[in-house]
Amino acid sequence: MKLVSCKPIQFFWLLLSAVLLCSCGAPTALTTRYAPFHPTNNTAVNFTFNTSDNDGIARAELFVYEYELYVNPNNNMRSARQRPGGQWGFMEDWNYSTEPTSANETHSFSDGFPAESFVRFLVRITDGKGRKKSEDWYFAAGDWPYGNSPIPILGKGAPAKTIDVAFVADRTDYSSGRDILPDLEGLIFDGYHINNAIRNRRQLWSFYYSPQRGFISDYDSGELTLDIPSGVRNSPIIDHAAVIHTTVKRDWASGGNFGTEPTNIGTAVHESGHSTFDLADEYNSGNCRTSSDPYHNVYDSEADAEAYNTSNGWPASDVEEIFSGCWRVEPSSLGCIMVNDGDATMPDFERSCFLRTIWYYIELTN
Ligand SMILES: [Zn+2]
Repeated sequence: MKLVSCKPIQFFWLLLSAVLLCSCGAPTALTTRYAPFHPTNNTAVNFTFNTSDNDGIARAELFVYEYELYVNPNNNMRSARQRPGGQWGFMEDWNYSTEPTSANETHSFSDGFPAESFVRFLVRITDGKGRKKSEDWYFAAGDWPYGNSPIPILGKGAPAKTIDVAFVADRTDYSSGRDILPDLEGLIFDGYHINNAIRNRRQLWSFYYSPQRGFISDYDSGELTLDIPSGVRNSPIIDHAAVIHTTVKRDWASGGNFGTEPTNIGTAVHESGHSTFDLADEYNSGNCRTSSDPYHNVYDSEADAEAYNTSNGWPASDVEEIFSGCWRVEPSSLGCIMVNDGDATMPDFERSCFLRTIWYYIELTN
């Protein structure tokens, strides 16, 4: 009874969110990044932003806040506090008298950060009409004081309100846990962050890497071994892990964890589509799994798939048989990332899958 009476309201909010997610209107577009990931003690760090606005860019400002990590002796909790004498606040600004419609700058902080640092940086843009837009992130820098726990490389919110992904270096291809870091910059900034269901919600995704290495076997090797280090496996924060390898292997997933090459950005996001959004494969993977309530992409019943489309305003005739006894609700011609992961390209989450992602984000942030 309650569910039935709530549904129209919930659907309204989903639609509203979809409208807000689209890039219509003309707010300031802003993305920011830093490099290198998990910089070693006192290594220079580059802070970069890329912005555009039809009203022109008048000013850009960079603020950096330096914390020290410690264990609070009173409650034994891992904590961060402002580092005395550390960087705190304004670092750089750019003023544009010509108010260009786009700007792209990098500031190099050559001092870097000492051991046991936790850094927050914020870029604030002022457009030609005085409107402000900002983006901020945090990351760890210098020697990591917490053993084999996953190390934050890009995050924003509290772990309970974000999707927390840990990357693990495959010991076949990397000589240390840190060795994957350069490969993760492309996977995150030019991979996860460009996907249509993530780019406007990218601050709900937090990324970490494991100090310890792991391993995933080739699916075609005849043995299925997936070794996720205990520091990741036992972490109360991490939602799912990905073993990163450069040797070409046929990838597979188990228990929400998976393997991928760092350049296969579409594969990584497809697998996260299973792990995070609980979407099913829309191609013939050999077994059929009905996706999860309340927003679906696959059913093991044709009638249920048709009823789902009808109730969401899509033609029942859009339902397609994937293989005997298995149906997708959105046509394969839409090219959803759950039909074809795109390997090194980045397909979109289409219609029904996209609705699922919006619902998931609402649940996550409520
Ligand atoms: Zn899949």
